[in-house]
Amino acid sequence: MRRQRPTLIAVSTLIAITLTTAAPAPANAAPPDQVTALTAHQADGYTTLAWQPVDGATDYQIERTPVDANGTPTGAPTIVGIWRPNRQINQQAPTFADAGYNPGDTFQWRVRARTGTTEQPYSDPVTATTTAPWGNPTTPGEQLRTGWETTHAAQYTSDTDEYAYTAAIDALSDRVRVVELGRTVQNRPINMMVIGHPTPAATPEAVAATAPVAINCNVHGNEPGDREACLIMARQLAFSTDPRITDLLSHTTVLIVPTINGDGRANNTRGNSTGQDLNRDYSLIRQPETTAYIKMVRDYRPVAGYDGHEFGNSRAGDLPMLPPRHQNVAQPIFDQSQDMIEGHMYAKGAEAGWWACPYGCEGGGNVGLSEETILRNTLGLKNVTNSLLELRSSGGQTRPDEGNTANNRRRKTYSALWTFHQFLDYHRADRADILKARSEAIESQAANTGRLVFRGSRPIPAHPAPHPGDSPPPLDAPPADLILDNPPCAYKLTDAQYNGARTDGPGGVGTTVAQRIAAHGWKVITIGDDHYVPLNQPERGLIPLLLDGKGVEKLTDGERIYPTLTGRRNGPLAVTGFTCADDATINGPVTVRAGAALVTTATTISGPLTATGAAGILLADSTVNGPVRIAATDTISIIDATIAGPVDLSGNTTGTDAPVLAGTTIRGPLNCTGNNPTPHNLGIANTVHGPRTTQCAAL
Ligand SMILES: [Zn+2]
Repeated sequence: MRRQRPTLIAVSTLIAITLTTAAPAPANAAPPDQVTALTAHQADGYTTLAWQPVDGATDYQIERTPVDANGTPTGAPTIVGIWRPNRQINQQAPTFADAGYNPGDTFQWRVRARTGTTEQPYSDPVTATTTAPWGNPTTPGEQLRTGWETTHAAQYTSDTDEYAYTAAIDALSDRVRVVELGRTVQNRPINMMVIGHPTPAATPEAVAATAPVAINCNVHGNEPGDREACLIMARQLAFSTDPRITDLLSHTTVLIVPTINGDGRANNTRGNSTGQDLNRDYSLIRQPETTAYIKMVRDYRPVAGYDGHEFGNSRAGDLPMLPPRHQNVAQPIFDQSQDMIEGHMYAKGAEAGWWACPYGCEGGGNVGLSEETILRNTLGLKNVTNSLLELRSSGGQTRPDEGNTANNRRRKTYSALWTFHQFLDYHRADRADILKARSEAIESQAANTGRLVFRGSRPIPAHPAPHPGDSPPPLDAPPADLILDNPPCAYKLTDAQYNGARTDGPGGVGTTVAQRIAAHGWKVITIGDDHYVPLNQPERGLIPLLLDGKGVEKLTDGERIYPTLTGRRNGPLAVTGFTCADDATINGPVTVRAGAALVTTATTISGPLTATGAAGILLADSTVNGPVRIAATDTISIIDATIAGPVDLSGNTTGTDAPVLAGTTIRGPLNCTGNNPTPHNLGIANTVHGPRTTQCAAL
């Protein structure tokens, strides 16, 4: 459900006012500036403190004191938190997530308001025992602990500890399968945990059918906080009998990649072992680590994602987040990602006491821009609802106890753990909207013939006041010279461009453009020595960034190919060579000759449309008012089309690249026979009024 933020805020404000005026004054009334009604709610690794606001308070100080079982202090009281008004959207109910203690220990908390710099009286204290690390220490599986947990956050979990821990979870839980996505430059495995209930679906294609979610835990090796959260969450997902967890896992598959950058983590460096920042490589995929992740996205087709980081601005929020902003990202994906962040995370953060805000808030600098090389944007351009997650590295002014390294690490990790659980809850609650956004994005990308932007972001306006973090991220509007108003329908690559040796990988050896396009999962039409990449595909916004001369970080300068069939045309048409039709009306039968290709957008063909032995047929947002017969053709994609039918796809052998038939209405029968591989629908069901044969029965 999409949330109506202003209405919600207004209603909750009303309720708060009603409660305040309706409540009778207590007999022994507290001083007017004293915090009252302090509560402490325990969760995994943190305590949510909540209290009644004090009129005119500038901020609040949160004090924590260690106590023994009898409530007697065992150490000095410490100010561990400063609540400021820019940390949450609902200020009628202030909350603060206190973290950065040894989970399981017992504490007393008090909170006081400050008016200007004047300290008001402390609240009455609240004493509670915090939640111990998750999992019964005597129950197999649950008893597993990471190296970070067993050392009380003194050490991060090592690479070998991670492999042993994930292997043990795999061995002890039917819900978890660990797969190796690839190897790092230094030959470390890049593992992914595939988690479902009662068992994860057996193949990538079967997992894709569950609308999976993907968490990338550690791309920058020196930002390890999220990775520890991922490892703890994996144990919870694997062994918890909480109905919430089993319900979540019964409705999706959770894909967790703890360490894509194993070499960087082992050496505590931002980049991989070649020095490459992997979060500037997801479109170019020069490195084996990013290639592994992008192939995973191609094969498992996650519909939503989070990408974990840490950042150094100690003034800003606990949890800066940011959606895919590149202007070529489809609007529904941007909107859904914003709904996840501002609609869900801001609201839930205000309940739990975590301070989510836009990345770049509070003087964060020129960050969070439109580089398509950043996973946040790459995933958006792949029609995945997703967000960046940053964990504030140091405690800064609002978490003054974090000179203690272990406590600092705990706050980061447990705030990430909270975020990832919220991410799963959001997907569970908003799954239908996420899938609708994805379908609309895929169809609108394939149908789009409008302008292309090579660099430039959508603006992120400030959240309606109060603004978490106060300031929105930089505008990052596209400069005029990075906009192409008259875009082509395809790029033509020479064989040298497509298959030629490259030097941009580790050790001066790069994979070919052909291999990278295959890793992205784009359809290519080969005619003779020429290779055409049509733009009427689901990743239309990403293709030109790699293949156009204007691309800022591109693979090659492809030749722009423009439509030659436009407007009205009468009589039979025989297509030879590579032909694009855009906004055309073709009155008559169309025959695509052997070795030729037809690519259409917004085009109506009276039909029939026949292709035998063709190089490719790609139809998007098009209509055929007659039968369609495609046989022995190399590349096939039909997205968001309307076909009178019958439709016959037979004997097409398309290598590793399955024919796509998605979001299409067929008024007659659909026959699919002898195609290898079997056609698939990208998760967007077709409407077929007539009977369908086995190969297309599930489409
Ligand atoms: Zn980072």
